[in-house]
Amino acid sequence: MNVNEYIESVLATVKKRNPGEAEFYQAVSEVLDTLRPVLEAHPEYQKAGLIERLVEPEKIIKFRVPWVDDSGKVQVNRGYRIQFNNAIGPYKGGLRFRDNVTESVIKFLGFEQIFKNSLTGLPIGGGKGGSDFDPKGKSDAEVMRFCQSFMTELFKYIGADTDVPAGDIGVGAREIGFLYGQYKRLTDLYEGVLTGKGLTYGGSLARKEATGFGLCYFTEEMLKANGKSFKGRTVVISGSGNVAIYAAVKATALGGKVVAMSDSNGFVYDPDGIDIELVKQIKEVGRGRISEYVKTKPNACYGDKCSDIWGVKCDIALPCATQNEINGESAKKLVENGCFCVSEGANMPSTPDAIEVYQSSGILFGPAKAANAGGVATSALEMSQNSMRYSWTFDEVDGKLHDIMVNIFKNVESAAAKYGMPGNYAAGANIAGFLKVADAMMAQGIV
Ligand code: NDP
Repeated sequence: MNVNEYIESVLATVKKRNPGEAEFYQAVSEVLDTLRPVLEAHPEYQKAGLIERLVEPEKIIKFRVPWVDDSGKVQVNRGYRIQFNNAIGPYKGGLRFRDNVTESVIKFLGFEQIFKNSLTGLPIGGGKGGSDFDPKGKSDAEVMRFCQSFMTELFKYIGADTDVPAGDIGVGAREIGFLYGQYKRLTDLYEGVLTGKGLTYGGSLARKEATGFGLCYFTEEMLKANGKSFKGRTVVISGSGNVAIYAAVKATALGGKVVAMSDSNGFVYDPDGIDIELVKQIKEVGRGRISEYVKTKPNACYGDKCSDIWGVKCDIALPCATQNEINGESAKKLVENGCFCVSEGANMPSTPDAIEVYQSSGILFGPAKAANAGGVATSALEMSQNSMRYSWTFDEVDGKLHDIMVNIFKNVESAAAKYGMPGNYAAGANIAGFLKVADAMMAQGIV
């Protein structure tokens, strides 16, 4: 079988074995498409069934999560943990709590996580989990009861050297605290089993900021390699959660002007530059809606269609909300308005059509696997600090994060060039991430 036939046959099996799982199929086909030259150069991978094994999660854990709401009514959600690949280290990846979570979403996230974690250069394997529970609109007591029920099942499968979950959409400091409290109660272990913990009980300084800061460090490096920078540039950032807020902070610190941000109801445009402290106040403290921004800022305006944010004129776009939030049409709008760089804070925010538009128009594209790897890298630094029973300062962690992101860019850039696709950072990220995992899998036999 030649390489093209091999890839087609793996994709056909993925489709057959995971019916209706569009997001998972999208993530797998994007990666396999870019691995062709690597598979040509390494026929031993095909012989070892390496790709067939890579696309099949090692374990899929699915469970019922019953809990009682404030009115006394019993609610039932579904929980997941997918332990995708531990060839290079214990499973590591976030938990997502959102009503649109399905097995397909968790699988796509877990699959991407394998390559992202490998790119960090740290010893962490790929996993992901979550639930179709949405903390939005729930009381703290409801969120706590849900988290306790979720952990009552999950604790059997995780551990500091086995699988270390973290946050993602809908899982922030509050949720991690409740999950950790229940884990400790069930196991009597005070160990680094979750990352993103509060600073008083084992969390790392700069973890909260890490994904957004890391995104900007990666993007700045990519811009620099192409004779550009954030300085004096107009920036649009979707979302207003953990990643978006700290991307806005760092993009501003690097000299950019952030003019628009959003949430799942709509977006705000502020020609004077987004007041990030106000966004933090609304979203982090008040758990409110981004529409509240315009009450305090008379020059700003609000639009109630999220995707219209991509019609705001900008030089640099940082999608930091969710998967498939930029389609081909939105990508065209960005390019027509002069945007020259899209760098992904969210996971898989660009559809295949959108990526085609970026590539055919020659704009700089920083793929999620590389650009948002700062979060998990800093989670791994939290694991190191927990193991050492020691804490680094903010500047120490931030300095390590910066070095990791610069290094990721260099590896991505050189892998793309080495395999004949210079400047194609999406291919470079897939290849560089894949090679380390492939090497470890080959060394460990057929497992
Ligand atoms: P949060 O829950 O903190 O924030 C998510 C934000 O996105 C919220 O503002 C939410 O709005 C908004 N949002 C959700 N869906 C849409 C939509 N369809 N259109 C516009 N806005 C939307 O999550 P994070 O910031 O942690 O995660 C954001 C993305 O970054 C995800 O793709 C995640 O997988 C990825 N990521 C996160 C990492 C981390 O360390 N947290 C690490 C690497 C990647 P609302 O307030 O209405 O819910």
